Amino acid sequence: MRITPMRHLLVIGLVVAAAPLVAGAGTAGPGSAGIGDRLFPLLGNGGYDVGAYDLRLTYPEKDPAQTVRGDVSITATATQQLSQFNLDFAGGGPSRVDVNGKSATFVRDGDELVVTPQSYLRKGRAFTVTVHGFTAVPEDPDPNAPDGFTTTPDGTALLGQPAAAHRLFPSNDHPSDKAAYTITTNVPQGWTGTASGVLASTRSADGRVVSTYRHPQPMASELLQVVAGDFVVHERAPVGGVRVRDVVPRRLATEALPRFDVEREQISWLTGQVGPYPFDVYGSLLIDVELGAALETQTLSVYDSSIVALPRPVLESIEAHELAHHWFGNSVAPAEWSDVWLNEGHATWYELLWAEKIGAVEEHTGSPTREEFFKRVYAVSDTWRAQFGPVARPTSAAQLFDLFNSNVYYGGALALYALEQEIGTPAFQRLERAWPSVNRGRSASTDDFITLASQVAGRDLKPFLTAWLYGTTTPPMPGHPDWTTSPSARSLHVPGSLRH
Ligand SMILES: [Zn+2]
Repeated sequence: MRITPMRHLLVIGLVVAAAPLVAGAGTAGPGSAGIGDRLFPLLGNGGYDVGAYDLRLTYPEKDPAQTVRGDVSITATATQQLSQFNLDFAGGGPSRVDVNGKSATFVRDGDELVVTPQSYLRKGRAFTVTVHGFTAVPEDPDPNAPDGFTTTPDGTALLGQPAAAHRLFPSNDHPSDKAAYTITTNVPQGWTGTASGVLASTRSADGRVVSTYRHPQPMASELLQVVAGDFVVHERAPVGGVRVRDVVPRRLATEALPRFDVEREQISWLTGQVGPYPFDVYGSLLIDVELGAALETQTLSVYDSSIVALPRPVLESIEAHELAHHWFGNSVAPAEWSDVWLNEGHATWYELLWAEKIGAVEEHTGSPTREEFFKRVYAVSDTWRAQFGPVARPTSAAQLFDLFNSNVYYGGALALYALEQEIGTPAFQRLERAWPSVNRGRSASTDDFITLASQVAGRDLKPFLTAWLYGTTTPPMPGHPDWTTSPSARSLHVPGSLRH
């Protein structure tokens, strides 16, 4: 049932008239419309914690621009006495919402789906909300806004980071509420539906192919990948028990697949650097669009054709970046978006280490060595802090590149370089292994990182790291008293005129 504005007012009137709903352990009230993110006030929702999503998507035709229909069942636990709660959703519909199997009233308010169950939900109790018959229309790729549910010549894919997964499906769309996923795609025969996780079943009947993928480890909604179209799935030999498969457009398979040959070697290399790969499967997805973008969608990193066409050493370094995100950003997600330097600073760190390992630092960065590159980043660091805000406190997320700015990527890696200089390489490497181990499957904050760094180093690093991460000017670089910031430094050749 679609609620009209008049009905909306009536429903609100009834809720107000009925409030407060007095429950045994306190008064029931509505969950908040946002989860409390400084940069995205309405992203995520208050009052509950999602445990699992069961998402089912139907692609009626072989048409990349078509409207996709879906249902999602969300199992969650109430964290307060709830009379009403929100989901984030920017698509169409839905046709019906059930809570614990009983029809619930619902209204749309911008990108919020406001759900009122027939009876309040008790704090600490599990409940299930099923949203039936929602729709999502994919958008044409836009290099100025390379996020969203995107059309490609071969089908559709998802680039949900940071706030676009809810354009496809109703969710608690914030990385602080991670959950397990089951994803089922229903596509016409001849198309392939693939998603984050491991294929659990597939069956064909009546001209349709229904495939179910399971991703049991916690995943942030922004990192889900669902791709449907004329794609092929190419299996590679496992690496230490980790399955490896790539997904590429069928018509480009022969030329595209060799571009991902390095991923098995990189899984071994990063496992040696930072510990076991945190998921069951890894691989790469090519989409034939020109966004200048790659994204660490969980277990299936996505690359557009402009990135896959880069010179091999540069592409490989970006591939190391997306893989590194699976420890830094995926398995350990940011507690809030201000913490995104924890993702990008670390991923850039391993991107540069890979470039160094294959002798490609100059080709990749324009600087002859990693140290020289960091010296140049240091020179521009005050300018970036003024332009974008401190490393761990970006000024704005109004545009995608306000949040995913150079200071988060290269300033974040520079802060790690400073930390390594300060505590020494052995302690730094212990920290890099401890962080994804201690926080595996969780969402963690900059404060958590400072606390763990202090524990691993055996001394209080809060003043040092606070200056590096929250300062409006760049602190002195340990071990390099000659490094200076330059007021005239405005630009730097960095590999990231790309988004990745
Ligand atoms: Zn990245």
